[in-house]
Amino acid sequence: LDRTAGKSITAARVPFVAFASLVLVAIPLWAGGCTVQGRAARPSIVLVTIDTLRPDHLEAYGGPRATSPRIAELARWGVRFDYALSQASWTLPAMTSLLTSLYPIEHGAISASRKVDPSVVTLAEALRWEGYHTIGVVSHLFVSRRYGFDKGFDEFDESQVLGPHAVTSAELSRIALERMARAPRPFFLWVHYFDPHFSYVRHPEYGFADGYTGELANPVTSTELTTALLAGRVTPRDTRFVADVYDEEIAFTDSQVSRLLDGVAEEVAREPVVTILTADHGEYFMERGRFFHAHDVYDELVHVPLIIAGAVPPALRGTVVAEPVETRSVARTVMALVGGEHAFAGRNLLEIAAGGHSPPFVFAEGSDIWTEGGGQRAVVGGDWKLVERLEDGGYELYDRATDPAEREDRYGDDDPAVRAAQSGLRRALDGFEERKQRRASRLQLSDEEARRLRALGYLR
Ligand SMILES: [Zn+2]
Repeated sequence: LDRTAGKSITAARVPFVAFASLVLVAIPLWAGGCTVQGRAARPSIVLVTIDTLRPDHLEAYGGPRATSPRIAELARWGVRFDYALSQASWTLPAMTSLLTSLYPIEHGAISASRKVDPSVVTLAEALRWEGYHTIGVVSHLFVSRRYGFDKGFDEFDESQVLGPHAVTSAELSRIALERMARAPRPFFLWVHYFDPHFSYVRHPEYGFADGYTGELANPVTSTELTTALLAGRVTPRDTRFVADVYDEEIAFTDSQVSRLLDGVAEEVAREPVVTILTADHGEYFMERGRFFHAHDVYDELVHVPLIIAGAVPPALRGTVVAEPVETRSVARTVMALVGGEHAFAGRNLLEIAAGGHSPPFVFAEGSDIWTEGGGQRAVVGGDWKLVERLEDGGYELYDRATDPAEREDRYGDDDPAVRAAQSGLRRALDGFEERKQRRASRLQLSDEEARRLRALGYLR
């Protein structure tokens, strides 16, 4: 990643070539051509969230392997945010932030026994108030009805919330397309894909994990991996295999996202559609002696892909935004795109892409799934990232420009520039604490639900 361009927007625009698949959805609103009863047609919105998707495993973000040609194509024709932070490192708080614009410290859905509070306005709800037909198609308990995520949806399909080994992306795309085809316009379609989450199941047609002869089996399960890890039996080759199978899951998911986007383009060829693609969080591959996610706020877990494509202003197509942004700004951006009234927090991401100011600080929070306390908080300002460890009250400071892997802790360094960055970020985090509300309602998990969450890698 070109960190030297960190202060400015890199407008690497691609020549306009008529790619049938994507450009279909990328036209008239901004050209002023498409009108319905005298006013510009409001775009339908497709929100694709892919669970556990690390940007450095995508070629659109400089990943070394062709895991995701469709996501790369989307980025070529859309706006790609190079450094988007999710507001949390596991699904429930991260997705609540994405769909409500509130930080976890504000919405409070930070453990498995908290659900989104009914008083919180969601993106689906705000779009319904604007006359949108809203459809949610999900595949994870943490974004299901049980946790309050059906709020604001005219149609909500959670038939693909299945066990850890289930491969659901193909069925999700099928269900989403079927419902979309029948839906009145404009519509809001949210599809939450889950396959890159544990367990990892091989998709041998991609061959990334071929040739492995170690002791891990297919599928790679959280129990098996944890047992091997605790016994000190995980070798670098095993870790490589786990990441290779993860890449096969990404490739398969990309092919199903492609089916979804082709289907939408075919169905609404003459109407504007905006597609937003992002993730809830990343994943560890032993970078810090662990697999899985949650609790921490290092970039392996909170740096996520974020792409906005389709009916965006033509001048923005192919733009890469280097400044830090937050995924909770998606709701506000969508409201701006549809001319809607509800005032979500955050920034309009397309204004930032057009040269507007990015937020001076972006935040992420990590909590433990089974308890309410502990975890970490992070604030990023410019090239610096401050991590607060809530258990011991300690801090860590990283220079993103020279140390993007966050290895060299500079907290307490004597260099005056470091001290200045440090105190600015400390003030920002202290101010952040004042946002604390914890609005979420309580929820009692059944033994079966808790067992299923553990099987997904959320170990106690
Ligand atoms: Zn997740």
